[in-house]
Amino acid sequence: MNASFVLLPGDGIGPEVTEAAYRVLVAVGRRFGHEFHFDSRPMGGVAIDEYGDPLPQSTLDACREADAIILGAVGGPQWDDPNAKTRPEAGLLTLRKELGLFANLRPITAHAQLIEASPLRRDLIEGVDILFFRELTGGIYFGDSSLSDDGRVATSVMRYSVGEIERIVRMAAQAARNRRNKLTSVDKANVLEVSRLWRRVASRVMTEEFPDVDYEVVLVDAMAMHLISRPRDFDVVVTGNLFGDILTDEGSMLPGSLGMLPSASLGETQPGLYEPIHGSAPDIAGEDLANPLATILAAAMALRHSLGLETEAAAVEAAVDVVLDSGMRTKDIAGGGKFFGTEAMGDAVATAVST
Ligand code: NAD
Repeated sequence: MNASFVLLPGDGIGPEVTEAAYRVLVAVGRRFGHEFHFDSRPMGGVAIDEYGDPLPQSTLDACREADAIILGAVGGPQWDDPNAKTRPEAGLLTLRKELGLFANLRPITAHAQLIEASPLRRDLIEGVDILFFRELTGGIYFGDSSLSDDGRVATSVMRYSVGEIERIVRMAAQAARNRRNKLTSVDKANVLEVSRLWRRVASRVMTEEFPDVDYEVVLVDAMAMHLISRPRDFDVVVTGNLFGDILTDEGSMLPGSLGMLPSASLGETQPGLYEPIHGSAPDIAGEDLANPLATILAAAMALRHSLGLETEAAAVEAAVDVVLDSGMRTKDIAGGGKFFGTEAMGDAVATAVST
């Protein structure tokens, strides 16, 4: 297969973890006989410094032409000036909007080798494998908002249309079919009219189009508890923007390590955007201390969701497991023990992919 990737290394540890993911993708191309093309572009703080714009037009144009985009991270204290004209994160928001990336996917996987890093007991966390679908371009973050003239009353509107609900429920249900065939839709239908619409539309889509998928609805407040008390019971979870924002951050704490968690943002037709959930970690940037596994696992998601290369994606995930099984750790997951650098960890995964 011929496929093109745009790499957006960004700021802080972004370039280090992106380089590791790049080397793993090169190894995948070699082993499976694919022609992968890579184009690295500036975005975030580095692009502000160079072009005065966190998402230069040439970067956006290159992204539109790509099959998949791999982003490191953006931001850092040098761009935190509250009076600045623009910020690194603005580039990310524009990119998501321009590419119509309405679905944010976040897998929450407890790696058997790292169970001790979890704040939860082993018997609760072992075997956890959840895939969240958070709606990303609608809901209360994008509804009308206002502040009264006297500044004493504020309003933010949570709005969803039938089409917005249908498309993300379909995407999540399709993913469930390729996993353990279970979908949980999370809402607040006992209180919110918008959630009642969400529930009606989701139920109709599931009954008419996915009768074979095991489907349940859970209220968001109950879900916040279930995620901690019985996380293994969930397979694919779909929810709106606000609830998804909170629940995915809660979920990301379960495996106990920020450096292990990837995410993807997908639209209907445009290329997907794949990135680690962590930020640019300026405190360890340039020191070869960052854990590259989240970005490498994001690259695996790109192979699966944008290129349809399931075997290759699974090979990358298996290679990560092989490396963890060998006892190799970066500092963040070493528990005070011996650790390896970003480059060594990335190369070990690339080698494991190749064999
Ligand atoms: P952060 O995720 O960058 O770092 C939080 C802590 O986790 C730090 O101690 C860091 O050293 C550690 N950490 C993060 N990723 C790691 C990795 N791969 N390996 C080892 N340790 C890792 O969050 P923050 O400190 O709140 O934010 C730093 C900057 O990143 C800010 O400018 C913020 O705006 C930006 N940020 C960007 C994104 C993004 O690009 N999508 C997301 C979140 C934060």
